[in-house]
Amino acid sequence: MVNVDLLPAFADNYIFCFRAGGSGVFIVDPGDAGPVHDYLQKTGHAPAAILVTHHHADHVGGVRELAAHYAIPVYGPRQRTPGLTHPLSAGRQLIEGIPMEVIAVPGHTLDHVAYLVEDALFCGDTLFSAGCGRLFEGTPAQMHDSLERLGSLPGDTRVYCAHEYTLSNLRFARHVEPDNAALLDREREVSSIRKAGLPSIPSRMDIEQDGNPFLRTRIAAVQKAARTFDPSCDITDPVAVFAALRRWKDQF
Ligand SMILES: [Zn+2]
Repeated sequence: MVNVDLLPAFADNYIFCFRAGGSGVFIVDPGDAGPVHDYLQKTGHAPAAILVTHHHADHVGGVRELAAHYAIPVYGPRQRTPGLTHPLSAGRQLIEGIPMEVIAVPGHTLDHVAYLVEDALFCGDTLFSAGCGRLFEGTPAQMHDSLERLGSLPGDTRVYCAHEYTLSNLRFARHVEPDNAALLDREREVSSIRKAGLPSIPSRMDIEQDGNPFLRTRIAAVQKAARTFDPSCDITDPVAVFAALRRWKDQF
């Protein structure tokens, strides 16, 4: 069992602290050291390592300070991970003795990785609940492939995405698929969760498969919507549908 705690940071980031199989705490994407110091002090847990998904400042801003303060290793992409001690390649591996699958998910950035630990997926800024990350470095084809890879994980996978964007993503998703009843239910659920001041994260992969337009490029209603936005879109090509949706969301 992977025990995950969410630490809010900045306006809408989450830093994840998890323990698996009696391990110390793995700290995922500490954009800010402060909340992690507070968490470790409050819980008394021993930190094991830092895991980085990608190089953006809101994910790595606290890495050097935490690594130095606690003398813990830093795992992440080979390029541009501050304080990196263990550059990662994709595949199944033991990280500090814990089995994990490192999944290469280029698109938001070229070097982006996701971590799958048992049923918990830490996917950074690749897959969001009801949405996906912007394409800062990669191509639509790369991001589409990355999302297909994540979307093929089992339905009960817990999805820990790094931002609280769910409600605004759902507004776009419902615009794309107004007749998708699952989306209406999800929006009601997330609205009440957020009104109570609670996080909408983790999501579950089956929830994403049923409503996230960026995982649904092969669904006729989504293809039709993509063509409404861009009449030149070749809806027989899932990458073209994805690219149209992403451009649409960028200006929504
Ligand atoms: Zn990012």
